[in-house]
Amino acid sequence: MNILFASSEVVPFAKTGGLADVVGALPRELERLGHHPVVFMPAYRQVRHCGEPLDPTSIVVTVRVGSKDVRGRLLRSRLPDSNVPVYLVEQDDYFDRPQLYRDSGTDYKDNCERFTFFCRAVMQSLGVLGMPIDIVHCHDWQTGLIPAYLKIEHARVPGYEHIACLFTLHNLGYQGQFWHWDMLLTGLDWKYFNWHQMEFHGHLNLLKTGIVFADALNTVSPRYAREIQQEPLGCGLASALRHRADVLSGILNGVNYDVWDPSRDKWLDATYDVTNWTEGKAHCKAAVQQELGLPQQPRQPLIGLIGRLADQKGWDLVGEVMQRWAHLRNVQWVILGTGEEQYHRLLHRLSTNHPHKFALRLEFSDRLAHRIEAASDMFVMASRYEPCGLNQMYSLRYGAVPIVHRTGGLSDTIADATPDQLAQGTANGFSFSTFDADHLEQALNRACHMYEWEPEQWRRLVETGMRQDWSWAHSARQYVELYEQLAARGRG
Ligand code: ADP
Repeated sequence: MNILFASSEVVPFAKTGGLADVVGALPRELERLGHHPVVFMPAYRQVRHCGEPLDPTSIVVTVRVGSKDVRGRLLRSRLPDSNVPVYLVEQDDYFDRPQLYRDSGTDYKDNCERFTFFCRAVMQSLGVLGMPIDIVHCHDWQTGLIPAYLKIEHARVPGYEHIACLFTLHNLGYQGQFWHWDMLLTGLDWKYFNWHQMEFHGHLNLLKTGIVFADALNTVSPRYAREIQQEPLGCGLASALRHRADVLSGILNGVNYDVWDPSRDKWLDATYDVTNWTEGKAHCKAAVQQELGLPQQPRQPLIGLIGRLADQKGWDLVGEVMQRWAHLRNVQWVILGTGEEQYHRLLHRLSTNHPHKFALRLEFSDRLAHRIEAASDMFVMASRYEPCGLNQMYSLRYGAVPIVHRTGGLSDTIADATPDQLAQGTANGFSFSTFDADHLEQALNRACHMYEWEPEQWRRLVETGMRQDWSWAHSARQYVELYEQLAARGRG
């Protein structure tokens, strides 16, 4: 099958979150299974510094955005270690900017225009690629107009009429909402601006648009697919999603073990696997403690946290427990993240007041992310909600025991260390259900207690996690099944 991916971020070209990891990995796995994926993304400024070759092509697109004709050009690259072509849509007025979506804490004012252009450019490129596409696989609000264009404008256009469209929802918290006049940019008739289709409380909503017009929908874990059909996790779109429940499924994201495996991780001071992890981790822990200015304390639990500093990730809870423990407990915290100012301030205060217990890096660093996973004994993800979450799966492989809120993909991947699950050998972490600081603290207490007093049990927990296989192979097969069902329906 020929599958076109349209995504606003792709590893290794540009990334702000898990979406980029997914679209960087799934197409490569599909290629291994004998399919022919091709990826489209914008040519942001970051892309030029990512170290991948970018070849100019002669493919030029000119598309209508509102009352303007906007020109773009396609650059060509490929996903590393694969033959998967990546087309990057170059349009410097829109994409040659410091960040992907926002700058200095504010969204770019013309985001609707930028991604309308991107969607139209992908639609036009479909016709000039010289390869018949079976499936267009779109991701998140930035590509939400593509399903609408396919249904509304291209349903009877030769070459387009059999294309089926899958829309993957990576996070309902980001919907691409714009004022109603931006409807003019899309070029679609005002009749679609109604509450069954593109409108949401008076605004244009591009995520809802994708939900309504795609042939099928999926989220990135089975539990999140169920959770978003109710409020509050539907973020206002639960009823729209229930309406499409017959075509909505959940497929867990996978891990790219070519990149995330401590036995061949280029960023680590010592590589290790499940047979020698105690020495390997001790080495990596000492190296990170030294690099980040923490005292070299081999026996003190080192707790890692990596992620966007956003409400979604539960930093309020984590901050509260950190404050409670700052004077009381001998644990070290290593935190890597960027995001909202209030959390920058909170974490900055803690690390300034307790430099022996907190190491803070307010930046985006792949290198440090790998090193922290390897150094940590435990890894906390106290997300309010979590569509899938990747770091808990990375942590399992790196022997950093995950401590998570039981929600979405965290719940689908982490089995709590209850006596039963420990006895069955299925436990791989600690989880808590009630979303408050007390319950997070209890889970952390259980983890610290086992770490200190039950080293044999701890070893089993770590090794169960390290042996598990969360690779893309299984999930990619599930995507193929879904594509095949969709393609059969499209032809039928
Ligand atoms: P989300 O997509 O909601 O941000 P995920 O857990 O699905 O969360 O994916 C986040 C990805 O981004 C992971 O690969 C994580 O390591 C990475 N990441 C997040 N923040 C940083 C950071 N400050 N530095 C390096 N990597 C980061």
